[in-house]
Amino acid sequence: MKKYFGAHVSASGGVQNAPVNAHGIGAGGFALFTKNQRQWRAAPLEPETIEAFRRACRENGYLPQAILPHDSYLINLGHPGKDELQKSREAFVDEMRRCGQLGLDRLNFHPGSHLGQITVEECLDRVAESINIALEQTEGVTAVIENTAGQGSNVGFDFGHLAYIIDRVEDKSRVGYCIDTCHAFAAGYDLSSAAACDATFALLDRTVPMKYLRGMHLNDAMKPLGSRVDRHAPLGEGTIGLEAFRYIAADSRFDGMPLILETPVEERWPAEIAMLYGFADGRE
Ligand SMILES: [Zn+2]
Ligand SMILES: [Zn+2]
Repeated sequence: MKKYFGAHVSASGGVQNAPVNAHGIGAGGFALFTKNQRQWRAAPLEPETIEAFRRACRENGYLPQAILPHDSYLINLGHPGKDELQKSREAFVDEMRRCGQLGLDRLNFHPGSHLGQITVEECLDRVAESINIALEQTEGVTAVIENTAGQGSNVGFDFGHLAYIIDRVEDKSRVGYCIDTCHAFAAGYDLSSAAACDATFALLDRTVPMKYLRGMHLNDAMKPLGSRVDRHAPLGEGTIGLEAFRYIAADSRFDGMPLILETPVEERWPAEIAMLYGFADGRE
């Protein structure tokens, strides 16, 4: 299978349930939180949980390259405050270690927010340093920076921000990025036609080479191009429209990596995934 279409599935009751939930919706890949995303602290993963997760991935045919764990929403690796930054860095290292224990090879995160207290550049510098610290203290897991919609004081909405951070990461073999289609569109990158996708991904590749692409979030958008508002819509029901998803499904640059729905109506995930696989099969 070249395309790993899936969704951000529930891990409630334990991470070992995520691959089972993914299989249940016909997914070829999935995303999950390895701990409660709204809490700072989590109990360490028990050896039995780790074994159960690895077994469930094996039994359901999920390789690490098809799985895109997401970190906690509390973490801000570009935080202007010294103590808060330290807290975020520690929590991020813990999440990287959890991924490693589960046999996963990447961790997706939103770069950070300047909170109006430092410049965008200062914030990006902190994010890069946070990644360097985390990579030094862990092994085997790639830090995957997600582009943002640019809501509030979030950095990472400009493809140039991703390039700026990656430039400053010492170990280039363990850093990459994830493009969320809704966030890109909200940030002003048009994806609403095949020609627009051509132009946007060419610009992306020129700004930060697509060899660093480690996954995608496939979401339609509720708000217009350049709105800076992060509101996801079901595929085909938003302002982006189906053409972008048909384009991605048919394009080999997106093969072999997790392609994850974070669309708002979970009941539609099986149909959305089936539609994406239909688009992929129809290529050439
Ligand atoms: Zn996303
Ligand atoms: Zn979003």
